[in-house]
Amino acid sequence: MGKSYQEAKGEVQEMIDICDFATGLSRQLYGLSMHSERPAHRMLEQWHPLGIVGIISAFNFPVAVWSWNALIALVCGNCCIWKPSEKTPLSAIACQKILAEVLKKNHLPEGISSLVNGYADTGQKISNDKRIALVSATGSTRMGKEVAKAVSSRLGKYLLELGGNNAIIITQNADLSIAIPTVVFGAVGTAGQRCTTTRRLIVHQSMIDKVIEGLKKAYAQLKIGNPLDEKNHMGPLIDQDAVSKYLSAIEKCKKEGGNLILEGGKLDIPGSYVSPSIAMTEPHFEIVREETFAPILYIMSYADLHQAIQIQNSVNQGLSSSIISNNMRETELFLSAKGSDCGIANVNIGTSGAEIGGAFGGEKETGGGRESGSDAWKAYMRRQTVTINYSDEIPLAQGVEFNV
Ligand code: NAD
Repeated sequence: MGKSYQEAKGEVQEMIDICDFATGLSRQLYGLSMHSERPAHRMLEQWHPLGIVGIISAFNFPVAVWSWNALIALVCGNCCIWKPSEKTPLSAIACQKILAEVLKKNHLPEGISSLVNGYADTGQKISNDKRIALVSATGSTRMGKEVAKAVSSRLGKYLLELGGNNAIIITQNADLSIAIPTVVFGAVGTAGQRCTTTRRLIVHQSMIDKVIEGLKKAYAQLKIGNPLDEKNHMGPLIDQDAVSKYLSAIEKCKKEGGNLILEGGKLDIPGSYVSPSIAMTEPHFEIVREETFAPILYIMSYADLHQAIQIQNSVNQGLSSSIISNNMRETELFLSAKGSDCGIANVNIGTSGAEIGGAFGGEKETGGGRESGSDAWKAYMRRQTVTINYSDEIPLAQGVEFNV
């Protein structure tokens, strides 16, 4: 999909890491045991596979997102059917072939994980198919709302990983030698096409000038071009449509009163290459509240940390967030219940580049799903509560008498 070679290798490493994680997890699908209120009874929870898991994935992580879902779903005992993005069918075929070899070597049926390349209508068929117990969909909020509607109309289960509008707060106690590279990687990595891309920068008013100066210097060093050339930091956008959306976001930003500190645009080379933008904006701008899947960074200033957190939480999306500060009072407020409302909250690292060991996902219009590490496996199984009576009596719960 055009991400830089380094980032692409990272994505494949993520797939390898999740294989290791899933292998260990397969021995740790633990249930709880609890004490029964009745004599000579015991209670426990056990977890069973759901059956078939449908995976609908986005173009921007063409292999990792599938692996987060499929490998966990498989060790939980499910079968999977994967519909990748219509924009990245070949990496899906490559993954399917690698998996087929592994299954063959281990004498497992190839059909436990299937691939179906197709467009949105194929995704809709998956959403509407009663045989598919769980639909795990990654993509835009628009798509997620359609999937949720279709799956819930048949009372199926869904797991949604949707759009983000992620912010970094830079306080007056930030170490700028950490802040600047963190922001640059977050804003231009994968050409701004990560769900966790840093889109908003909320900077303490005393730091604005220094931050802008640091970003200008860093952006001047960015190399944009063929992603297979390891010297390049940024490859192209996914297609010409993405370029048009980027250019109209720049125009909309200017129209709303944004001040373009760095005005990017289409590069004069073949392909969908663009240069990144940075704009001084206000939190209420419509364009700032949208997810534009391109390298455009909106800077806003704040006076008080409570105000910064309010700005950060004021958008509809709730995926990833960060604070850059060496002050414990600030970082702890950010992590408290009065702090970030996102599924991911980081301190002194950026919004993107999550590790697979944690549960990944976001709140609000990001969809509320959790994938990958921690106990995210529970979404791929059904919980069964078991009560066993080993006495020769039949006492009822809550002391109910029913003598016949
Ligand atoms: P998209 O919504 O256009 O497409 C995603 C997938 O959904 C594709 O496979 C597509 O064919 C399918 N699809 C589209 N409409 C559908 C429908 N009505 N029913 C069923 N399937 C349908 O998204 P995209 O442009 O490929 O990816 C970018 C978006 O994905 C961004 O919003 C990004 O933030 C999001 N994303 C989120 C995460 C996350 O983990 N939260 C990860 C990666 C990408």
